[in-house]
Amino acid sequence: MRCPKCNYNKSSVIDSRQAEDGNAIRRRRECENCHARFTTFERVEELPLLVIKKDGTREQFSREKILNGIFQSAQKRPVSSDDIEQVVSRIEQRIRSEYESEVPSTVIGNLVMDELAELDEITYVRFASVYKSFKDVDEIEELLQQITNRVRSKKKRSKLDETD
Ligand SMILES: [Zn+2]
Repeated sequence: MRCPKCNYNKSSVIDSRQAEDGNAIRRRRECENCHARFTTFERVEELPLLVIKKDGTREQFSREKILNGIFQSAQKRPVSSDDIEQVVSRIEQRIRSEYESEVPSTVIGNLVMDELAELDEITYVRFASVYKSFKDVDEIEELLQQITNRVRSKKKRSKLDETD
C-alpha cells in the first residue's frame, strides 16, 4: 500500500481492528520511509447495487456520496466520523438485505433522515433541507414539529434511563 504522502510502497501495520460492524477491517499503517500514518479498509467485494434516481436514471450506489452528504450536514456539530461511518454502514446493510440489485434513491434518503434524527437534530434539519429542497413554509413547519416531538420523546426516554 503506497504512502499517500511520499508514495513509498512499504508500510507497517500499527493497529488492526474490526470496522463497520465486522464487515471491514480497519488498519492503521505507518510509512516506513516518512513515518506518516494513514488508514486502510479491507472489505469483501460486493455485487454492484444501482440507485434509481427520481428521473428514472440509474447510478452506482456510492457509500462515499452518502458519507459526504452527512459530513457536510454535520459540520461543527458534536458528531464524530465514527458515528457517521456507523450510520452509513447500518443504512448500507439494510439496503443490501432488503434490495437485491436496485434501490430507489428516496428509500436511501429516508433511511438517512431516520438515522440523523436519532443522531443530531441540527444535522438532521440541514440534511433534510437539502434533500427535500422545501417548496413552501408549511413543509418546514411540519419538519420542525416532527423534530420537536422527537426531542421531547428522547428527553423523556433519557430521563427514565438516568440512574442518579
Ligand atoms: Zn511516506
